Amino acid sequence: MSESLADRQRIDNALQAARDTKQLLVGRGVLRDAGALFASSFPSHSAILVADDSTYSVAGRALEESLSAAGVRLHDPAVLPAEGLYAESHFVDRALAAIAATDAIPVALGAGTINDVVKLAAHRAGRRYLCVATAASMDGYTAYGSSITHEGSKQTFDCPAPFAVVADIDIIAAAPAWLNASGYADLFAKCPAGADWLLADGLGVEAIDAPTWAMVQDRLCDWLADPEGVRRGEVEPIQRLTVALMMTGFAMQASLSSRPASGAEHQFSHLWDMENHTHDGSAPSHGFKVGIGSLASLRLYEAILDRPLDQIDVESAVNQWPKWSQDEATIPRLFDDPAPVNKAALINKGIEESNAKRISRNDLRKELTTLKDRWPQLRDRLSGHVYSVAEARDMLAAAGCPTESQQIGITPARLRSSHLKAYFLRRRYTVLDFVRRAGLWNELIGEEDSEPYPETPT
Ligand SMILES: [Zn+2]
Repeated sequence: MSESLADRQRIDNALQAARDTKQLLVGRGVLRDAGALFASSFPSHSAILVADDSTYSVAGRALEESLSAAGVRLHDPAVLPAEGLYAESHFVDRALAAIAATDAIPVALGAGTINDVVKLAAHRAGRRYLCVATAASMDGYTAYGSSITHEGSKQTFDCPAPFAVVADIDIIAAAPAWLNASGYADLFAKCPAGADWLLADGLGVEAIDAPTWAMVQDRLCDWLADPEGVRRGEVEPIQRLTVALMMTGFAMQASLSSRPASGAEHQFSHLWDMENHTHDGSAPSHGFKVGIGSLASLRLYEAILDRPLDQIDVESAVNQWPKWSQDEATIPRLFDDPAPVNKAALINKGIEESNAKRISRNDLRKELTTLKDRWPQLRDRLSGHVYSVAEARDMLAAAGCPTESQQIGITPARLRSSHLKAYFLRRRYTVLDFVRRAGLWNELIGEEDSEPYPETPT
């Protein structure tokens, strides 16, 4: 079977298993089939396009022609300004107002921001929607839930994935290179994310779900194999990247969890989102943040894989383990940054999430005894899974992604202090939990209690 046939087979299997998405058209020139897909998905419904002025100018007319040719009645499009557009609740309100003024099915035309905005607006209007992807910039097209900033804080809202998705590779390959580079980094993140799941599985914390694991991990190395082709906007590598991102979205849709696609590397990105981090006046792309997070995570993997943890001193690690009252005191101090960030929201989230994963010394003793017993097999599994930091840097750089945190405005000192904040902000077990529970934090990352990062964030 050819590679693209094998991918088509995987997509068809994923569609069978998907809760929300029933159709995915991916390939060159498939925009012309969007109208027929709409008509068969939503018989006798009219359509309202939601786009931004840049995606509308790229593909709006062609999409409208395809819809009209299929006999679909069109309302005036809702075109948001591309300048200053981000996944924020005011834009959801604007899209919802336009949608609710009609009885039409929304058609999202754009990348991550437009899709997240329309996903939530359509849900609030009580309607399903069609998504036409204009870049391979992240894996959220086919994912359940929408990531939206509300009252200054980024939140994930429950809402179904699109009913159908159209991904025209001619349009996606011509998207600005940084968008597809961002998608490459978001796909690359599945390497450390998968390692985190291997750790959680190996230590009995969270078992791997074989079908969703396979959807993301079986072909990951092949999907990541041509970063230069992605940077050059070549059709085949871009198609492979697009399929890969759709598949990881399907895995999240099937499990109603981001576990198959997200680990510690995403926690760095969530932290910087919650801190409203900007660089040169705007937030770095999701993919570029998780790319830097991936390198931070892989650095930890490289360090732990070097260690004979089958000889770990369990009692010494257990004795170092902080009491919950210590963490409860650390969290407010840690997030007490000079910058005007959402301090209260960060502290509350830190307490809530850390409380959810707190572990007694007795349970930690059991977990570390398991680690001691299973380390040789677990280490083999992990070392067969992760890229070295050097390989990862080369791959990300070849795709056109940043490989130094300063390139996205995060100083080395801030990156270091971000480890502990990221650890506290999510209950999900990752390499950060592993390092802390094994008593390796100070050695691998630095003193927990040293001062918060001193620089003014850019
Ligand atoms: Zn992501």
